[in-house]
Amino acid sequence: MPISPVLRTRIDLKTFFAGDDNGSDQQEHTNRTHNHGGGIVMQTRKPMADLFLETTVMFADIVGFTAWSSVREPSQVFTLLETVYAAFDEIAKRHRVFKVETVGDCYVAVTGLPDPRKDHAIAMLRFAYACRIRVNRIMKQLEVHLGPDTGDLTVRFGVHSGSVTGGVLRGERARFQLFGDTMNMTARMESSCSPDKIQLSKETADLLIAQGKQHWITPRSDTVTIKGKGTVQTYWLVKAGHGGRGSVGSGSSRDGKNELQLDNTTKMTRLIDWQVDVFAKLLQKVICRREAQRKNKRGGSLDRQLSRFGAYDGNGEGDFSLKNGRTCLDEVKEIIELPEFNAEAARNQQDPDGIVLDERVRAQLRGYIVAIAMMYQENAFHNFEHACHVTMSVTKLFYRIVMPKDDVINEGIEQSNIAATLHDHTYGITSDPLTQFAVVFSALIHDVDHTGVPNTKLVTEKPALAKVFREKSVAEQNSIVLSLELLMDEGYSELRNAICESTEEKGRFRQLVFQTVLATDISDKELKTLRNDRWENAFSGGLLEEDPRDTINRKATIVIEHLIQASDVAHTMQHWHVYRRWNENFFDECHKNYVDGRATEDPSEYWYKGEIGFFDFYIIPLARKLKECGVFGKSSDEYLNYALKNRQEWEERGQEVVAEMVEARITINGSNHGSLPEVMDGENFEEEPRHTTAELQTISE
Ligand SMILES: [Zn+2]
Repeated sequence: MPISPVLRTRIDLKTFFAGDDNGSDQQEHTNRTHNHGGGIVMQTRKPMADLFLETTVMFADIVGFTAWSSVREPSQVFTLLETVYAAFDEIAKRHRVFKVETVGDCYVAVTGLPDPRKDHAIAMLRFAYACRIRVNRIMKQLEVHLGPDTGDLTVRFGVHSGSVTGGVLRGERARFQLFGDTMNMTARMESSCSPDKIQLSKETADLLIAQGKQHWITPRSDTVTIKGKGTVQTYWLVKAGHGGRGSVGSGSSRDGKNELQLDNTTKMTRLIDWQVDVFAKLLQKVICRREAQRKNKRGGSLDRQLSRFGAYDGNGEGDFSLKNGRTCLDEVKEIIELPEFNAEAARNQQDPDGIVLDERVRAQLRGYIVAIAMMYQENAFHNFEHACHVTMSVTKLFYRIVMPKDDVINEGIEQSNIAATLHDHTYGITSDPLTQFAVVFSALIHDVDHTGVPNTKLVTEKPALAKVFREKSVAEQNSIVLSLELLMDEGYSELRNAICESTEEKGRFRQLVFQTVLATDISDKELKTLRNDRWENAFSGGLLEEDPRDTINRKATIVIEHLIQASDVAHTMQHWHVYRRWNENFFDECHKNYVDGRATEDPSEYWYKGEIGFFDFYIIPLARKLKECGVFGKSSDEYLNYALKNRQEWEERGQEVVAEMVEARITINGSNHGSLPEVMDGENFEEEPRHTTAELQTISE
């Protein structure tokens, strides 16, 4: 019996959905193409398409995804998307929802086809609701692996009901596609939706009401403007349970404050877990390399570099603390010595991922990171989350210098020589795990106990502390000393020995931490002059008649210093949203200081110009230097491009942004003026946060 064409299409589509047909040739539709001249080849086989009158479509996308992914490795971006999509796919199967496709971070699904169903709207909203709950849990779990801000990612959902044209677009990669006005409307429902919400059109709402689910929805208080349709009333989904059982409220009705506090505590835990993960991996590398070197020595060949480091006269006992009367600044060196390339050790080294950290070491590592996290004060900017961001940026830059694949492959270097080439290319940084550990460690601790004011102010607020450090780089020296003293605690002896075993290693670790953390003081003139001279000597011709080892180590030293500096202000060289968020945090911190009388200038008065100066005299030159040194490959282009783009956008929108930030503070505080700032003497007046004119001059010199 012949079947109707509509049913034929439906069967074809179902076959396609079932994966039995890839949309290429079929017996029923022989592939005939006619060349009509003019180069157009028209497909004349019968299309697999149909009009479906009653469907509900959903678009879901991750809010803030572009900004989030701009600071991460491609593999991390894929981990996130694959995890979220896999969860959605699994829920879709259970709810008999058809997944149409994913485009970037947008997930498209439909109900009511290929088989029609009366409850297509209800089914879709149950699906969307289940996805929302699940994705919020997933993001929090992923934060431990993918780092800060992951737990804050949410999804917004747009839902609309209507007719769609659906069919299989055949060709090299056949895929099912939906077309029509319904798709545009759904996209608009999604794009105008608030984070972590499910917005539905009036058409979908009407279907729900008709089926007795009016209690699921609430009208949106403001209207949404749709191109060609004007303003429309839309609805929020508040719940979508199964009958009386399992209907969960949206959460907004519960005690918001308690929820927020709970959320913050767990967020801290997640960040700590993530840090533990980062440091455990680095420590595994350190241990594997040490083992390989030990084998090497047993084999009879003397480790040359040990004798070189034997000259280190830091602290014979392997103590990290300072000798009497010395400050961290006395420890800053022109050249930090990194180990020479050890071909045999590189060859013999075990896979670091294959070893398991000693349980006590891991427990102490966690304990140490928890203690460090607690030593961070609750500033709007200089807080533990900032430290996590800097850590993430440093690890990202390290990852990039570890893998200059293109260069290596293009030069046609043999596999066995890659490690050696990499070593030279990165001035020895990549082949020494302890160097990497020390620099990432510096990122973790670099703002410990930061009080929220610049050094110039700190000196007046804590004169005794300032005196200990001879009134220079006081905040940075304080962070170093507190963190290293903590590490010297008896409770961390196993951890300490895992990081550095020999006196030589201890000396090098200590040296690197001092140098790296002090590089984050970008206002100290003396330090800055030293660094600039070092850069000149290293990359602009260099010193003649110098030991080539010194030349390489000088380059390594300067690259490490610029790596931490860039990471400390990485938000200015990342997506606009990331920049905006941290800029606002910093504004908050300075504004609070002003209100509390710890600063004399109202930040809203200098912020706009200050940022432009900061970009022109510090950020952009720094980004250019990263590029010039040639170690970071594509990353440096990315940093420079973002810096230039952000500077441009700030120039155009900055004044508006400042006005918004001021407005927001008036609303929050009820007043823009808390207690009036104390009157300061003229000397302090010109020494304020980095954005003031005085500071900018320092930076630009
Ligand atoms: Zn910092």
